[in-house]
Amino acid sequence: VERTLILVKPDGVARNLIGQILARVEAKGYRIVALEQRIADADLLAQHYAEHVGKPFYQPLVDFMSSGPVVAIVAEGHRVIEGFRALAGATDPTRAQPGTIRGDLGRDWGLKVQQNLVHGSDSPESAEREIGLWFSGR
Ligand code: ATP
Repeated sequence: VERTLILVKPDGVARNLIGQILARVEAKGYRIVALEQRIADADLLAQHYAEHVGKPFYQPLVDFMSSGPVVAIVAEGHRVIEGFRALAGATDPTRAQPGTIRGDLGRDWGLKVQQNLVHGSDSPESAEREIGLWFSGR
């Protein structure tokens, strides 16, 4: 069965949206198999966002992602990677369709980084890599 890594980003935690986000994942039918709230350090974020190193939004992204606790979640189910990305909606919360997490709950706050509430792995390879990073030794 497929697994994905979901993060409730610091904006989602600060806005008390953990429950609403988890409820959407569970209501869709996916199983939560691991869940932990933590503060990510620069080393973990550098590995998590390795593909974005050097992009103009990289430092604002790392600063944002380490600005407060995040909730790391492993969810499981057939095609959960694709399914969660559909639930999350487009990266830019202004453009994300209503009905999605970002479309219903997110907006542009005029910052250098898109504070878009959630992350979801984008491929089976990314999912296994990211689950290993966030849940190593667990
Ligand atoms: P995620 O990987 O978090 O699910 P994504 O796959 O939709 O999001 P990526 O392209 O992987 O988006 O970018 C990772 C994160 O970096 C985005 O979720 C967003 O927070 C931030 N980001 C991406 N592009 C931009 C941009 N052009 N300007 C500001 N922030 C951005």
